[in-house]
Amino acid sequence: MFDYIVVGAGFAGAVIAERLASQENKKILIVDKRKHIGGNTYDFHNQDGILVHQYGPHIFHTNSRDVFEYLGQFTAWRPYEHRVLASVDGMLVPIPINLNTINSLYGLNLSSEQVDTFLKEKAITKTHVVTSEDAVVSKIGKELYEKFFKGYTKKQWGLDPSELDASVAARIPTRNNRDDRYFADSYQAMPLHGYTKMFENMLDHPNIKVMLNTDYKEIENVIPFKKMIYTGPVDYFFDYCYGKLPYRSIEFKFETYETEKFQSTGTINYPNEHLYTRITEFKHLTGQKHPKTSVVYEYPKAEGDPYYPVPRPENAVLYKQYQLLANEVPDTYFTGRLATYKYYNMDQVVAQSLTLYKKIVGASILSHLSNGYELAVNKA
Ligand code: FAD
Ligand code: UDP
Repeated sequence: MFDYIVVGAGFAGAVIAERLASQENKKILIVDKRKHIGGNTYDFHNQDGILVHQYGPHIFHTNSRDVFEYLGQFTAWRPYEHRVLASVDGMLVPIPINLNTINSLYGLNLSSEQVDTFLKEKAITKTHVVTSEDAVVSKIGKELYEKFFKGYTKKQWGLDPSELDASVAARIPTRNNRDDRYFADSYQAMPLHGYTKMFENMLDHPNIKVMLNTDYKEIENVIPFKKMIYTGPVDYFFDYCYGKLPYRSIEFKFETYETEKFQSTGTINYPNEHLYTRITEFKHLTGQKHPKTSVVYEYPKAEGDPYYPVPRPENAVLYKQYQLLANEVPDTYFTGRLATYKYYNMDQVVAQSLTLYKKIVGASILSHLSNGYELAVNKA
């Protein structure tokens, strides 16, 4: 009898499995319908021997020392700061928009203070910032919004930015300095030997059994277990009883070129041209030396593997209905990007599962205490 079945071997599932097995001596069966562990962070060496990410580029960054140190038990790190250029007006300029972006686009030589004034003049005052369009135009105005955000967002989500929560575009800051890093977090690094290797180390414990190529619904009535941790799509768990929650998908097109370097930086975004949103060249991320190079083009689409929850009000309402059901399922916990319908980065998912672990342990301490209390009461 397993103490827990964990559905999904991505970050959400692997972290909770690792904690419960190594710290609480629980017997865990982790089940994934895919043929590999690692969830969407899965990486592998392609036929040319280049390390690529099967589900698009994954760059690790966090402000949480706890999360960084926790994962550091399972991998060495390679320091890496991601930089992105956007193809706009026939130029490649830094995104997030910074001082150099504005000076290059407008042929100016502004200082940081002057660029603040420049953007303030362009910004459109919004009393309520509700949508992604509001979030951007209230900071940088309509013209830059149209150059950098409108087209990219329409491609990525199949929606106009005015139909998406402010939080989506608000992921991208605006800077008045020359900082051209995509992320500003205190810890920015890649697992030295890749994500899959890190997951192998996390799950390498005598209390953890891994079952791949298996949908949990095939085995939940066959293999005995006490509790479940579920990290798959929440609507699937409930057989879509309230209808399907929209998740955005992507088609990844990989190419390997007979050249050492394809582009000058890790990712180039194409807000206004092409059907793809961005091209990422993996060797920038991984630091691998190789005479050839592999890149991935991302073509967003509605159908396919669920990758992104779609943050907008009607989806939040539908998710809330599922969440209420989820709260009522006995001995079952929901965690991760798909099961809690949250547009979370990897570090947020790790933090969410570490928090769930503490909650479970706290709950079991409480139930021991209350059992002890009942015993004491019965004896008295
Ligand atoms: P997942 O990784 O999706 O894992 C869920 C697992 O559950 C999957 O393996 C799935 O096969 C399995 N599963 C689902 N249903 C079932 C079932 N019925 N039975 C059995 N198994 C099932 N984050 C960053 O921090 N930095 C980045 O640069 C970054 N880039 C990204 C780029 C792309 C294109 C995408 C899509 C995401 C990116 N992310 C990034 C986000 C990151 O992928 C997620 O935060 C993280 O992988 C979520 O982990 P998870 O375990 O919640 O979900
Ligand atoms: N975005 C944009 N233009 C860009 C980069 C981002 O419009 O050049 C918007 C777009 O809506 C995107 C969101 O900001 O989906 C978040 O971007 P991020 O790079 O964080 O997306 P992810 O890496 O999660 O796909």
